[in-house]
Amino acid sequence: MTIEKTLGLIKPDGLERGKQGVVIDRLLKSGFKITAMKQLRLTRAQAEAFYAEHSARPFFGPLCSYMTSGPIIAMTLEKENGVADWRKMMGATNPEKADPGTIRRDLAVDMEKNTVHGSDSPQSAAREVPFFFNNLEF
Ligand code: UDP
Ligand code: MG
Repeated sequence: MTIEKTLGLIKPDGLERGKQGVVIDRLLKSGFKITAMKQLRLTRAQAEAFYAEHSARPFFGPLCSYMTSGPIIAMTLEKENGVADWRKMMGATNPEKADPGTIRRDLAVDMEKNTVHGSDSPQSAAREVPFFFNNLEF
């Protein structure tokens, strides 16, 4: 298997409740290298662009409001099979349906405030990593 790069976000509910350390600790203990990391606050236009694939969905407006409600942490993560492994660690979108031991099951508030984001495929990762980081940052 080859080393894959993927995007990780700690969403506003995670920072609001001080869960950054837990998420980062779990990533490092699971063998991920965090090759870039920064805290920022998205503008409305940036949130809409990042989640453009969901623009027709009823949850799009509330999602963009939530994602701009406070700071987030963006990370470039690297590991063998990193894309799928990070999604597995995160758990299902709905924390009630997420497997025990996953970040969302253990930490998320609800379906929207679900604490973390991860690229859902290598193709998504190839779009999402450069959305947050330029080639001097990792
Ligand atoms: N979301 C929501 N309601 C829904 C589905 C999604 O509020 O019914 C939010 C949630 O924060 C989710 C994000 O929109 O993480 C992106 O949705 P997606 O289906 O891509 O889930 P993910 O890939 O994050 O598991
Ligand atoms: Mg998604």
